[in-house]
Amino acid sequence: MTETLSVAQGREYLAIPGPSVMPDVVLQAMHRPAPNIYEGALIDLTAGLIPDLKRVARTEHNAAIYICNGHGAWEAALSNVVAPGETVLVPATGRFGHGWADMAQGLGIEAQILDFGKSTPWDMDRIAEALRADTGHRIKAVLGVHVDTSSSVRNDVAGLRAVLDAVGHPALLMVDCIASMACDRFEMDAWGVDVAVTGSQKGLMVPPGLGFVFFNDKAAAVRAQMPRVSRYWDWVPRADPELFFQYFGGTAPTHHLYGLRAALDLIHDEGIEHVWDRHARLARAIWTACEAWGQDGGPLTLNVADRAHRSHAVTALRIGAPHGSALRDWVSRNIGLTLGIGLGMAEPGDPAWHGFFRIGHMGHVNGHMVLGMLAGIEAGLIALDIPHGQGAVEAAAAVIAKG
Ligand SMILES: *Cc1c(COP(=O)(O)O)cnc(C)c1O
Repeated sequence: MTETLSVAQGREYLAIPGPSVMPDVVLQAMHRPAPNIYEGALIDLTAGLIPDLKRVARTEHNAAIYICNGHGAWEAALSNVVAPGETVLVPATGRFGHGWADMAQGLGIEAQILDFGKSTPWDMDRIAEALRADTGHRIKAVLGVHVDTSSSVRNDVAGLRAVLDAVGHPALLMVDCIASMACDRFEMDAWGVDVAVTGSQKGLMVPPGLGFVFFNDKAAAVRAQMPRVSRYWDWVPRADPELFFQYFGGTAPTHHLYGLRAALDLIHDEGIEHVWDRHARLARAIWTACEAWGQDGGPLTLNVADRAHRSHAVTALRIGAPHGSALRDWVSRNIGLTLGIGLGMAEPGDPAWHGFFRIGHMGHVNGHMVLGMLAGIEAGLIALDIPHGQGAVEAAAAVIAKG
């Protein structure tokens, strides 16, 4: 291999599936001195965040803000509606499903896991079977991950609601939208979701550190029956504050709130439907390029075969060890592009996931970033002599041009 001149200097593209690229307006909004938290602008700003967050989640119901990452939001949601000793059903399509189940187990909750592997979506028949078998209604909630960021599988949340209804099972439907919110279409109320969980650092384009839990009246009624909820996670004061401090259980995450305000303005100025359509078109361009590279004996394959089950926010790819790590390393050193590691994809002969990588395309991402990223990957494939089909970048450009 000939020595390549690095052309990495310049603006970088962090194409990992969270934290995502931060818009300049978000960064600028956060660049300010510490504000007064007892009165003034921050208090008015916070009250306005709640309705705008609910518009993103497509719910008329309640929203609570926590100072935590996604793992904290998982625990917050569970703590309000599932008591130790109770049972949850977890249909898992990747590492994050297992992660939420593990969080439940840490709270003393029994997690009944249905493992659907790492590249196919929920099998509704198996879920229906598990719910029908639960004649005593021990299952208090079903925990579904909408987009599993490790596998990039996108699951059918409305379909899961239909299964619960068809079986006549009263369990709450709780959904992790951490990777999907403001990227993939998600309709909390229309899809009959009782509790939705998300975080700040993916489609919402704000640094990690805020967790959001949305809940409807059915979930609120379950919360009211709980014997005890930890003071910090309790969503009741956070969702209905008489005092500003109740939103946060203490000092407000001041700078995150300014950043979030700017990010929500970007989302609503563009329009949430348009945000979803943009992610869909960019995802199609990426898939088209990846499918082309996999032609003519190239080792690259998309982890999820069926387009209908792929996320619009993240794409997991298999390229064979050591090509995955080599490619990530090459694009990082040579063109200023950071790709995501494979996550939870251990296979015989590749326990460290060197044969995988992921592309994050969530949030503040547009056509020229995606086309540049794809052309950069192609440069890496050429530099590393990794076999690949031709015409990938041109095909992706045609998708950007024509849909
Ligand atoms: C990122 C992510 C999480 C975890 O969020 P953290 O902020 O890293 O704790 C959970 N679920 C999904 C689907 C995610 O994408």
